[in-house]
Amino acid sequence: MIIDALKKLLDRDDIGTIVTTMGTTAVGSVDPLPVILQLQAEYGFRIHADVAYGGYFILADNLEVETQEALECLLEVDSIAIVPHKHGLQPYGCGCILS
Ligand SMILES: *Cc1c(COP(=O)(O)O)cnc(C)c1O
Repeated sequence: MIIDALKKLLDRDDIGTIVTTMGTTAVGSVDPLPVILQLQAEYGFRIHADVAYGGYFILADNLEVETQEALECLLEVDSIAIVPHKHGLQPYGCGCILS
């Protein structure tokens, strides 16, 4: 997520929910959740975190510091989506939203 672009949108529009992706499927990019949480305090939007793919990496001990810090903020968001048939090793298709 490009934070400067997000700030412009927040200044211009009344945005109710920001969806962060905490690990894209293609390249593993993780949005800067600590910064987005600071913006939430200022603008008052809800945060949904898509951790469908990347959320499991919170268990890893070899992440870059920024990635680790972003994943450690997950308890502060309003809802998350997780998909156990990915790194949760479930053998059948399943997913859930937790709020
Ligand atoms: C897999 C995935 C989802 C959920 O997609 P499904 O169609 O339910 O499998 C959502 N976000 C990300 C980043 C994913 O990798």
